[in-house]
Amino acid sequence: MARMSSYDIVVIGAGPVGLSFARALADTNLSICMIEKQPQSLLSNPPLDGRDIALTHDSMQLMKSLDMWERIPKKEISPIRLAKVYSGRSSYSLEFDSKHTKRSELGCLVPNNEIRRAAYRSINRLRTIAIKDKLEASKVYTDNNQGSVRLSNGETITASLIVAADSRFSSARSQMSIPVSTKDFGRSAIVCRMTHTKSHDETAHECFFDDWTLAILPLQGKKSSIVITLPTEQVDSVMNMSAPDFGNRLERNLGNRLGKMRLVGQRYVYPLVAVYASSFSAKRFALIGDAAVGMHPVTAHGFNLGLGGAQILAQEIRKAISLGIDIGACTVLDAYSLKQRRASALLYYGTNALVGIYTDNRPAILGLRAMGLRLANHLAPFKKYVTRQLTGKVA
Ligand SMILES: Cc1cc2nc3c(=O)[nH]c(=O)nc-3n(C[C@H](O)[C@H](O)[C@H](O)COP(=O)(O)OP(=O)(O)OC[C@H]3O[C@@H](n4cnc5c(N)ncnc54)[C@H](O)[C@@H]3O)c2cc1C
Repeated sequence: MARMSSYDIVVIGAGPVGLSFARALADTNLSICMIEKQPQSLLSNPPLDGRDIALTHDSMQLMKSLDMWERIPKKEISPIRLAKVYSGRSSYSLEFDSKHTKRSELGCLVPNNEIRRAAYRSINRLRTIAIKDKLEASKVYTDNNQGSVRLSNGETITASLIVAADSRFSSARSQMSIPVSTKDFGRSAIVCRMTHTKSHDETAHECFFDDWTLAILPLQGKKSSIVITLPTEQVDSVMNMSAPDFGNRLERNLGNRLGKMRLVGQRYVYPLVAVYASSFSAKRFALIGDAAVGMHPVTAHGFNLGLGGAQILAQEIRKAISLGIDIGACTVLDAYSLKQRRASALLYYGTNALVGIYTDNRPAILGLRAMGLRLANHLAPFKKYVTRQLTGKVA
C-alpha cells in the first residue's frame, strides 16, 4: 500500500535558500518536511564547489537572526572594502568604496559550502523540521484543500503549502505549469581560487574584456576567488590549460596587478542560464530562491535575493498565523509573490542588460562601454543605488 504522511509545509530542495526558509519558521510550531535528493552526509559536510558568495549586509544580518552566521568559521569570512570595474585593459575604473558608506566594508565573501553547512546545522535536530534525503519530488500537484508531493520511493506527502526551492532548473515549477522566462547566455563561468604574491588590499576587480569577463574577489591572505565568464565553446581550451599556463594568462590579463598567480585546487564550470518565473506563487504553492529567480552571477545577487525572498515568505506566513488565516491561502502567497517581484525585477533585468552590453564587442558598443564607466563614476545617484544594494539601508 502507498505510504502517506502529512505536514503543514513541504519544502522541495534543501539548498541554502530552502534550509534558510525552514529555519525562519522554526519557532512557529509548524511541521515542515524537506525533500532533498542529496544524502544528509553531504548536506552536513558539503564539499567545496568553487563558489565564493558575496554577501550583502542585509544577508549577513538575516543569517545572524537565523542562527547561521555564528556557525561560519571567522577564517572563511573575507571583507570587500573597495570594488573596481574596468572596461578592457584600460586602467580607468568605476569605483565603489566603503569609505563613502557608514560601513567598514561593502560586503563579505563566504564559500558557498560554508553557507550550506551553516544552514543545515541551524535546522538539524529541530523537532519541527524533518528531512527526507536521497529522494526526489517526482510529482507535485495542489487543489483547493491541500498540496501533494509524490516522492521517488512511491510515498506521497500532503501539506497546506508546498514550497519549491529546487534550483533554477526546478522540476516542481514545471509540474505546476508555471511558465518561466529563460535567458541562455551561451556562456559559462569557470570558478577557482588562486594565490598571488601581491596584496589585493581587500579590493574586488571586475574586468569586462571584449567577449569575456574576469572577476577577482579578495579572500583572506594573498588569495582570491576567480570568476571567468566566456563563450561556452571556449571552456574546454581554458579548462585544459596547465595550472602554470592558466596562472600566467591571468597575470598577463591583470597587467601583473596581483603579481605571480598560482592555481589552488580545481577549476569548476557553471553554464550561465538566467531564469525568471512568470509568477512566484500558485494554488498552495510558492517558488523561492533560484527556482523563482536564477540570476547571472556577475552582480553577485542570487543567494542574497533568495535569502531575502525566503524571509518575506516566512513573514507572510507568520502574519497569516497571527490573523488565524490558512497559511496556503492565495492572499498570503500573492502578497509574497508581489513583494519579491518588486525586490527582484529591476535587479534581474538590469543584470541581463549589463551582461548584454558588456559582452557585445561591436566597435560602437566598445566605445560606449568605456564612456559608460566614466559617466557612471560621476553619477552619484547610480553609485549610491549600487552601494545600497550591498550595504543595506544605512549606506
Ligand atoms: C559561479 C556562481 C557564483 C555565484 N556567486 C554569487 C554571489 O556572489 N552572491 C550571491 O548572492 N549569489 C551567487 N550565486 C548564486 C547562488 O549560488 C544561488 O543563488 C544559490 O545557490 C541558490 O540557492 P537555492 O537554495 O535556491 O538553490 P540550489 O543551491 O540550486 O539548491 C537546490 C537544492 O534542491 C535540490 N533539488 C533539486 N531538484 C530536486 C528534486 N526534484 N527533489 C529534491 N531535491 C531537489 C538540490 O539537490 C539542491 O540541494 C552564484 C552562482 C554561481 C553559479
